[in-house]
Amino acid sequence: MVHFTGAGPGAKDLITLRALRLIENADVIIYAGSLVNEEILGYARKDCRIYNSAHMTLEQIISVIEKAESEGLDTVRLQTGDTSLYGAIGEQMAELDKRNIKYDICPGVSSFCGAAASLGAEYTLPGVSQSVIICREEGRTPLPGGESLKSLASHKSTMVIFLSSALSENVRKSLTEGGYPPDTPVAVVYKATWDDEKILRTSLDALPEVMSEAGIEKTALIIVGRVLDTELERSRLYSPDFTTMFRKGSK
Ligand code: SAH
Repeated sequence: MVHFTGAGPGAKDLITLRALRLIENADVIIYAGSLVNEEILGYARKDCRIYNSAHMTLEQIISVIEKAESEGLDTVRLQTGDTSLYGAIGEQMAELDKRNIKYDICPGVSSFCGAAASLGAEYTLPGVSQSVIICREEGRTPLPGGESLKSLASHKSTMVIFLSSALSENVRKSLTEGGYPPDTPVAVVYKATWDDEKILRTSLDALPEVMSEAGIEKTALIIVGRVLDTELERSRLYSPDFTTMFRKGSK
């Protein structure tokens, strides 16, 4: 059996208990070497066979899994952050379906959650933004129609932009054309929750210059929106006059 498993954003104690047990029991681990913290592999058995998928094609990954299956072994496919975002597990599952190989999925803490914690931010502030758009700038992977950064920017919601650290000029252009004012607060979180994490806070108009000065062009999230302003509006959830399922309010 194959377990697609989220390895969390970086820090080795930011994995779930379920992921820990799967890693401890795995006969074979195929990990996304470009982003998974190798310290997490320290939880594996000494005799576990470990492969770094950064050097492998989809065909090679599937053939390692097929071999493990033929020996009755358990494989953990270790993905960075959470398994549901930008990890290309869809195509791996499709290949496993074709071969009738069973799998399940163990979710993980996504880097966008790790980044919010590092920033001390809440992405959904009352009266500011109640939505978070998870997206990327167009690069070598084309964006389906209607998902351009420019059109998403028109909502002026909180945006978390993945896979775009090397495209900061384009990000600024798309977001500005989409209607974000130049002074919109932006944070860049490089290697959120890792020991060498870096946080930059700036405004949209200065984004590419600030990133290039800090030399950040990979493993970063660009987070955009007024929620990054420090002035907070009070939520209704804990307001004395607001009735919820658990508490009767004064009005
Ligand atoms: N499934 C992952 C995303 C994989 S795509 C998740 O849930 O986080 C790879 C991109 O994720 C990187 O280019 C970067 O934009 C972002 N990323 C992954 N780990 C990160 C981290 N620790 N800090 C900042 N960005 C990270």
